[in-house]
Amino acid sequence: MSNVPELFGSLVFNDTVMKARLPKDIYRALQKTIKEGSHLELDVANVVAASMKDWATELGATHFTHWFQPMTGITAEKHDSFISPQGDGTVIMEFSGKELVRGEPDASSFPSGGLRATFEARGYTAWDPTSYAFIKDGTLCVPTAFCSYTGEALDKKTPLLRSMDAISKQALRILKLFGNTAPKRVLTTVGPEQEYFIIDKDVYLQRPDLIYTGRTLVGARPPKGQELEDHYFGALKPQIAAYMHDLDEELWKLGILSKTKHNEVAPAQHELAPIFSTTNIAADHNQLTMELMRKVADRHGLTCLLHEKPFAGINGSGKHNNWSISTDNGQNLLDPGDTPFENAQFLLFLVAVIKAVNKYQDLLRISVASAGNDHRLGANEAPPAIISIFLGEELGGVLDALADGTPYVGVEHVSMEIGATVLPHFPKDTTDRNRTSPFAFTGNKFEFRALGSSQSIAEPNVVLNTAVADILDEFANQLEASTDFIGDLNRLVKATILENRRIIFNGNGYDDAWVIEAEKRGLSNLKTTPEALVKYLTEQNVDLFVRHGVYTHKEIESRHEIYLENYAKTINIEALTLIDLANQKIIPAVNGYLTELAATVAAVSAFGEPTAQKKLGAKVSALANELYTKLSALETALIDVHGIEDSVDAAFAFRERVFTAMAELRIVVDELELTVGSDWWPLPTYGEILYSVI
Ligand code: ADP
Ligand code: MG
Repeated sequence: MSNVPELFGSLVFNDTVMKARLPKDIYRALQKTIKEGSHLELDVANVVAASMKDWATELGATHFTHWFQPMTGITAEKHDSFISPQGDGTVIMEFSGKELVRGEPDASSFPSGGLRATFEARGYTAWDPTSYAFIKDGTLCVPTAFCSYTGEALDKKTPLLRSMDAISKQALRILKLFGNTAPKRVLTTVGPEQEYFIIDKDVYLQRPDLIYTGRTLVGARPPKGQELEDHYFGALKPQIAAYMHDLDEELWKLGILSKTKHNEVAPAQHELAPIFSTTNIAADHNQLTMELMRKVADRHGLTCLLHEKPFAGINGSGKHNNWSISTDNGQNLLDPGDTPFENAQFLLFLVAVIKAVNKYQDLLRISVASAGNDHRLGANEAPPAIISIFLGEELGGVLDALADGTPYVGVEHVSMEIGATVLPHFPKDTTDRNRTSPFAFTGNKFEFRALGSSQSIAEPNVVLNTAVADILDEFANQLEASTDFIGDLNRLVKATILENRRIIFNGNGYDDAWVIEAEKRGLSNLKTTPEALVKYLTEQNVDLFVRHGVYTHKEIESRHEIYLENYAKTINIEALTLIDLANQKIIPAVNGYLTELAATVAAVSAFGEPTAQKKLGAKVSALANELYTKLSALETALIDVHGIEDSVDAAFAFRERVFTAMAELRIVVDELELTVGSDWWPLPTYGEILYSVI
């Protein structure tokens, strides 16, 4: 085992490196930019760039890249070497402040959702100095935001940074009301728990559906799935342990705080959780984590599947977005604290989150909507598509007592008076029992559990930050004008609880009764991506983003277009892959098996009536006919849908016609898989995939 403290961050141009390598005045100027967002002068940038280049080349780097997060959902990089010709046939290694601060990649091949049509194709990347530069595969990577030439965001990071500014601004106003003036900035923090599957690479390479779509489009249930619950927290298999060990080392080198690893519920499923960090850094690190999960797996002869639902009938993968708000001097604003004063401040932030989640529940749902995640949300798997908040009995009881003016039975105090009463102590482990809630309070943070495993954590956090900023803004407006702060605070908290109670639900989120109850409460139940996206451009949502400077009207429209397109393209690729699989692999295999059966029937006739063989042949033949019928139906549906111009209509048609036709075809294929002899079946089965790693 290598020396972890020494290994940790060894490929990162972090604070220690900066302190050691930068002249004092330069270091101070850069710190000011990092901490306060002040403008960085070019002469400072020049010194920083030269120092970064020296450091990187000493570690073997030859290239640099602006590393950014376009709307593809993954990261992008374009490598330039440091070489600079000297005119005498030699080169030196150079990296200028200008190259560090700004890049100009051609934006024309990244999704822009129509922004490109109105603006120039050129885009630029701008250094995000709050996220450290790092070395990956011999290249110095500079984390950046990516915008069009006219400043429109073309990526996931720009709005995330804007949303962090928005919540910081509003939270500081609230803190000031409590006399809390020390913090200069308020940050949101995120710890994303990441689920994934690991399978054998050879098996993976035999499944075109996994290769093209990330999930199995066909496959009958294996005799053993997850019913014995023997995988969760089970001992790690040696190959998996070796993989995780290697992965941890790679992550640590990049300064990623990989902390927890364990087996998940489904066979071949695992989880990695880091220690939380500031949201934009958490987003960068989660992208790197997903990339390294794949890369390191490949090195081990394994394949990492990050799709939300690689296998039907087996648990899918998600991401738990643990989220909190904290001051730059380390005070967690969602920690109840010990004094009436801390409690009062906590309660105000708490009810702000409750109101934000209630008011902007559709946006939260939209922020996790994707073709992949549709297999989980609203499909009887963790968590439901209905957004609700779990507070736990204790905290729920306190809020009830506050709102209704009734005594809280958990403590001696007769009535709960904000600013005067100390909250009861909430034991942390009793707050986290409900695993079915999409949005749960877990002691000193909220856990948004509806994220898909493959998605960037940027969007859900943009929504969370902005929605909460909006309510804090509203609260600050009311309280700043108050002449009776404690009285008005009490009234505001009570009113907010009463008005937003419908979003709080401590019961079982998978229960059918909840769906009915939620409808009665007027909560949204947006089961699929097209249904969710219809709500994206409502006046309330657009106004929210525009008001807080997170998206312009044009930007949000372009995002809507990109999400619709992504959805349609994903289903389209799946349909084409399934059609190919059926034509190229399954039909020939079935025909081969039928030919063999016919020969067997003739051979067996020598001994008597071949009843069994004929029955089997008739069954397979009937299924083959059914297969042709369903396949033609899918092909027809696809042709029809391709004729639809409007992107909203197309998304719905992909869902209602193509997706449905795929599901119907699959039923027949899976039946055939269980009927046709394994020597003839052209694809590794679920059993062979899920138990491929020993
Ligand atoms: P559990 O495993 O029960 O869900 P943990 O306390 O282990 O809960 O935390 C899970 C994740 O939440 C970890 O990634 C952790 O770093 C993160 N987390 C803890 N505190 C915070 C916080 N204040 N802000 C954001 N994330 C946090
Ligand atoms: Mg958790």
